Amino acid sequence: METASILGVRFDAVTMQQAVDTAMDRLRACRKGYVVTPNPEIVDLCRKDSAYRDIVNRAALVLPDGIGIIYAAKILGEPVSGKVAGVEFAEHLVSAMAKEHMRLFLLGAKPGVAEQAGKNLCAKYPGLVLAGTHDGYFSDPQTAVDAVNACGGADVVFVCLGAPKQEKFMAQYQDALDATLLCGLGGSLDVFAGVAKRAPDIFIKLGLEWFYRLLKQPSRIGRMMTLPKFLLIVIGQRLSGRKGK
Ligand code: UDP
Repeated sequence: METASILGVRFDAVTMQQAVDTAMDRLRACRKGYVVTPNPEIVDLCRKDSAYRDIVNRAALVLPDGIGIIYAAKILGEPVSGKVAGVEFAEHLVSAMAKEHMRLFLLGAKPGVAEQAGKNLCAKYPGLVLAGTHDGYFSDPQTAVDAVNACGGADVVFVCLGAPKQEKFMAQYQDALDATLLCGLGGSLDVFAGVAKRAPDIFIKLGLEWFYRLLKQPSRIGRMMTLPKFLLIVIGQRLSGRKGK
C-alpha cells in the first residue's frame, strides 16, 4: 500500500473502496488492529506529542479525513487518493458488514446517542448486528472494555471519544477488547443519531464543510485556526525541502 508522510504522520493512499476492502479483509481474517482518521488538528497534536504520533502511525489504516490533509499532500508532493472522511468510511463499512451479518459495538458520545445511532444504522442496513452500545463519558476505561466483552464481543467497535482520547484508548485496550477492528471516528455517532447534521452536499463537494460547521457553530473558530496554521507549517516544510517532521 502506497503511503504519504505529512509532518511525520503516515497516511495510506487508498480510495474509499480500497479502505473498506482492506478493513473487510482484516475482519474476515480476524486480524486485530485499529483505524485512525486524522484531520489537521490530529496531525498538529502529533507534532507536539511523539508518543501520540507513534500510536497514529501504528494503525492498521490511516485515512485522510478532511480537505486540509489533501491540500497538504499536494503541497508536499505526497501521494494520497483523495479524501476518505471518517464518517463516510464508517457508513460504507457498516453497509459491507451488514451483508455478512457482522457485529458492531458503538462506544462514545453523550448518553443515549450511541443507542439512537445503533437503531438508525440497523434500520438502514438490515443484516447488521448491533452487539451493544456505551456512552463516552466513563471515568474508568475498564468500564467500556467490560461493556464490549460482556456482550459477547464484536467484529468492529466504533470508538467515538474525540482526539486524542479515542486513539489512546484504542492503542491501550485493543488486546483486552474482544473485537477485531477498532475505528476512531470522532463525532460520527452524533451524525448517525441525527444529533449533528453534516453540511449540505454542495459544501462537501466544494471542500467547504469546515466553513459550514463554522457558520453553524462559531465557537469552533479557535479549533478552525488550526487549518491555516497547519497549511502554513506545511508550506514552510515544502520550502525548506524537508517532507518528514
Ligand atoms: N466525547 C466522548 N467522551 C469524551 C469527550 C468527547 O464521548 O470524553 C464525544 C463527544 O460527545 C462527540 C465526540 O466525542 O460525540 C467528539 O466530537 P468532535 O466533534 O470533537 O470530534 P471530531 O469529529 O470533530 O473529531
